[in-house]
Amino acid sequence: MIALRKFLTIIFPQVCVACDREAHYFCRQCQDQIDFLYYQPRFKPLENLVDNTHVLGFFTPPLSTVIKALKYQSLHPIGSILGNLLYQHLPLPTNLDFVTAVPLHPKRFKQRGYNQAKLIAQQLANRLEKPYQPLLLRQRHTQNLASVTNDQERFQLMSNVFALNPNLQINLKRKNILLVDDVVTTGSTLAACATQLHQAGVGKISAVLVAHES
Ligand SMILES: [Zn+2]
Repeated sequence: MIALRKFLTIIFPQVCVACDREAHYFCRQCQDQIDFLYYQPRFKPLENLVDNTHVLGFFTPPLSTVIKALKYQSLHPIGSILGNLLYQHLPLPTNLDFVTAVPLHPKRFKQRGYNQAKLIAQQLANRLEKPYQPLLLRQRHTQNLASVTNDQERFQLMSNVFALNPNLQINLKRKNILLVDDVVTTGSTLAACATQLHQAGVGKISAVLVAHES
């Protein structure tokens, strides 16, 4: 069934990835079924790092289905659809300087050829009329974090997974950043990104996520 659905969406992009109805990738009926989260989830790792966090919904169908279709079926237009949903449903800060996305690991990027979070962030930036900038990079070599039991050490290693993009000549001092990702679980990835941004002296960081996977 999943194989058939995947086949149908590649051949007929006017089919909803979640229910096979005739629609542009994600039909209105399925969008209406999203369990919208109107609260700001508190992720402990983000305390003192991110000023506010907003999540569109839980990582359950149909939201999880469209995210997976974006990630694994190369259905790039879904990035725009999710960016629009974030724009329509979440209270977003207006005093922003840059929108950026959590970068993908280089190995995954090589396999997939695109960063799904960037596709979502770019559309959100368009709607907000703010510049999208790839402010962060994910470094190639990462130690296996599972072997590290000390919280402090683990956090330090995790924050070194990311680095500021050296190709950008942008002064980030006191700039307000909107950080976008597709799925959040514990918030530790966002915290690692925020740590790097704070080292560059940014002002406020707001985080926007499509789905919360608990
Ligand atoms: Zn549908």
